[in-house]
Amino acid sequence: MATLQMHESEIESLVASIPRDLLIDGKWVPALAGRTFETIDPTTETVITWVAEGSAEDIDRAVVAARRALDNPNWSAIAPQERTRLLLRIADLIEANAEKFAILETLDNGMPISTARGFAHGAAACFRYYAGWPTKMHGDTNPSAPNVFNYTRREPIGVCGLIIPWNVPLSAAALKIAPALACGNTVILKPAEQTPLSSLLLGQLILDAGVPPGVVNIVNGFGESAGAALSNHPHIDKIAFTGSTSVGKQILRASSGNLKRVTLELGGKSPNVIFPDANLEAAVAASLNGFCQMAGQMCIASSRIFVHEAIHDAFVEKLTEQARLISIGNPFLPETRMGPLVSHEQLERVAAYFAIGADEGAIVRTGGKRHGQVGYFVEPTIFTDVSNHMRIAKEEIFGPVTSVLTFRDEDDAVFQGNDNDYGLAAAVWTNDIGKAHRVAHRLKAGTVWINTYLMASHMSPFGGYKQSGIGREMGAASLDAYTQIKSVFAQL
Ligand code: NAP
Ligand code: MG
Repeated sequence: MATLQMHESEIESLVASIPRDLLIDGKWVPALAGRTFETIDPTTETVITWVAEGSAEDIDRAVVAARRALDNPNWSAIAPQERTRLLLRIADLIEANAEKFAILETLDNGMPISTARGFAHGAAACFRYYAGWPTKMHGDTNPSAPNVFNYTRREPIGVCGLIIPWNVPLSAAALKIAPALACGNTVILKPAEQTPLSSLLLGQLILDAGVPPGVVNIVNGFGESAGAALSNHPHIDKIAFTGSTSVGKQILRASSGNLKRVTLELGGKSPNVIFPDANLEAAVAASLNGFCQMAGQMCIASSRIFVHEAIHDAFVEKLTEQARLISIGNPFLPETRMGPLVSHEQLERVAAYFAIGADEGAIVRTGGKRHGQVGYFVEPTIFTDVSNHMRIAKEEIFGPVTSVLTFRDEDDAVFQGNDNDYGLAAAVWTNDIGKAHRVAHRLKAGTVWINTYLMASHMSPFGGYKQSGIGREMGAASLDAYTQIKSVFAQL
């Protein structure tokens, strides 16, 4: 395993200590068909362990449990303060187990251990943030007519299917489970097949916190079977999905059978616009981090860098210089800044784009190669001489790869930045405060950064314009995603 020698046995016993079955109705149970699948350590390409492989029949069992739990007064009729207490307990347990989460996530996903620690504490903070909401979700009274008392209530949507990707597994699970529970729903989580481990530990802690059986169910398995069964299921009321745009479209189609509520957090190809008056050092550092953190496997990656023609050469020189200094290797070592890609499939996908970029006539300034023989490592890669219509500039690569493009003026930057099917995030770098906000307003993206990159907060809504998604998560926006509003009229 990809660990420091001294910790190896400790880590093996940690993996052995977590549940590997499906969590259904408050119990860990094997898949009905008895199948399991392996999860791989992307650093060493070896098997970490096996977990139960749920399929449609297991989803059926989970739906029965989740429906029953939804109407059970031990969940539906508890006081809001009690939901707060449960969410706070989960947060405390996550924090107490943060190091375990960090190790599991680094093993399974390959992200640097310091990053994984940050996500573990972030997941606790997310549960704490949503713990504040049950006591503060209120309706309105409306002056509908003099002889009528008309008020609104926020009610849970019901049974929610939560489908998440492999790039930030614990964080993705927390960002969906915490608000869903705060709003009184019950859930069935389907983690990504590449990274099941952190969700399993989370499931155990949720049980330990005293959440009633059936409120949180976890069914590991594959997208085409377990995932599709969730989005097709006639007795699931909502799907919250984070993943690729192509699967998002399939989910939307599959959900139409019973008109499920659907929120989608999808891909991105974020424009990062750098004006000549910007702080160049800061822009270079943040842009580099923006496509190399998590080995670029981020929906908000800084994958299209638009640099004003006057500073293009200086910017590229600095960016290239710094990209070459990034330490790639064992993600358990504190000095490692970039670990492997998550899977062999992802390695092949990213390598294919190296070839596509070269064929399209772009120039590789650095990288463009696999790093080492073992593990799914690739070098940070910078393409220049890119046009906005090349595939490397249009499509999400999901690796440590960026394209540097040029622009003439503000209008050109905005036009090119927006000339893409995605609209998840964008950034603008300038010391002109008016221009900064003007450009921020004109870029069609759910998140825009000014003189920074990669910032997010549990308190602030996150989501996509255009084909980057439907709806918003995080902040108070999650209340809209996980409740429905009822209007009650009483004759006076
Ligand atoms: P993916 O292939 O779309 O998979 C996401 C999840 O959907 C996985 O759990 C997958 O299961 C499941 N799935 C696959 N096919 C399905 C189907 N037909 N029906 C139902 N579920 C299905 O995405 P990924 O490769 O894991 O993750 C990378 C993508 O996620 C990127 O496009 C990235 O931009 C996006 N992302 C977006 C955000 C955001 O907030 N906007 C955040 C993170 C990532 P299996 O993996 O088990 O097959
Ligand atoms: Mg794995």
